[in-house]
Amino acid sequence: MKSPSSLEFLAEALRRLPGVGPKSAQRIAYHLMQHDRDGAAMLGRALTQAVERIRHCARCNTFTEHEVCETCMDTDRDESLLCVVETPADQLMIEQTMTYKGLYFVLMGHLSPLDGIGPKDIHLEKLIARATDGIVSEVVLATNFTNEGEATAHYISETLKARGLKVSRLARGVPVGGELEYVDAGTIARAMLDRRST
Ligand SMILES: [Zn+2]
Repeated sequence: MKSPSSLEFLAEALRRLPGVGPKSAQRIAYHLMQHDRDGAAMLGRALTQAVERIRHCARCNTFTEHEVCETCMDTDRDESLLCVVETPADQLMIEQTMTYKGLYFVLMGHLSPLDGIGPKDIHLEKLIARATDGIVSEVVLATNFTNEGEATAHYISETLKARGLKVSRLARGVPVGGELEYVDAGTIARAMLDRRST
């Protein structure tokens, strides 16, 4: 069997991108080689650099280039509050409401047994260790109001309450099925202020 040509190899690599099938991968490969070699070189460098440098924050699990991220290093924050979100984008949404001054934990996903995504994939052990540091007194669950988000919140809530922690959930200002990323800041602010114990 002969090894793939450079074009075939490129198209194969491009297929790793979400939503890119064989046809589009080939189109993109042709496009880059025909019209945008500088762009292609930049893309290659950016990918190599990102893979080398980006890791998970030792405390909150978000993406960072340091051992501990800037948010976790911010000494003006209330260390007794820990807000659990699914993604860095959700964290950003909550930051924009200006109503929350605690710290975060980023799951990088949600539980989804049908897709084979279990507690290990959402870094549950790391969250437990973080939440039981003796300083955190309340964990605010701000996962999405989708089925998966709700199930994830329920699971985490039971796990943390069993360890004696106070756990609250964003209030229902956020619509059923709502993903935080697409909800306006005012609604999230309200939901944060009205959060209730689980
Ligand atoms: Zn962090």
